[in-house]
Amino acid sequence: MESVGAEEPARANCPGCGGAEVRTVQETCADPASVHDGLSDRLASGPVMPSRGDSWLHFVEGALMTGVCAGLAYSGVQDDKPLYTIGGSLLAVLLLIGTVVVIRGEARERRVVAAGRARAEELSRSASYCSGCASVFYADGTPWQGVLTPEQYQKYVWTEAGYGTRLDARAKDVALPPGIPVRQGGTPDHA
Ligand SMILES: [Zn+2]
Repeated sequence: MESVGAEEPARANCPGCGGAEVRTVQETCADPASVHDGLSDRLASGPVMPSRGDSWLHFVEGALMTGVCAGLAYSGVQDDKPLYTIGGSLLAVLLLIGTVVVIRGEARERRVVAAGRARAEELSRSASYCSGCASVFYADGTPWQGVLTPEQYQKYVWTEAGYGTRLDARAKDVALPPGIPVRQGGTPDHA
């Protein structure tokens, strides 16, 4: 992006390549081109949070299917078909358990994401992205003076925010630069 006018002191150059094609990470993520080519996902400051609407839908689906199986079990009782009774009851119980597990998991995911959001936003707000060398850096040198790949940046932010276990394989296996002050955020969580 070109700046009009003489000097624009606020805009820092990339410490990696010296380039000036720099935007904040948040601007970069909001750019439709970044959404399209996946860069927004690679720079996302947290995992996608299942909405309450999703959970409500899963509850309704689970309840409906449980009801169908319960109906099957009931018809087994009425018509004296023990196979229907046993099969229907068993399926109804399994569906009920499955629905509870899914909904509880989604609620837990929402809590984890909410708990780390402040830290994740803090770390993403001050980060910049250089499209010249595809690096992330902090213009003021805090908390890190060097450049990071999008994967290193994401691992750093997610680990600090307590989302470390939710990183996808690409970012999980990447090594952070030695010396970066990373600490595990959030609550210990072994999914
Ligand atoms: Zn650069």
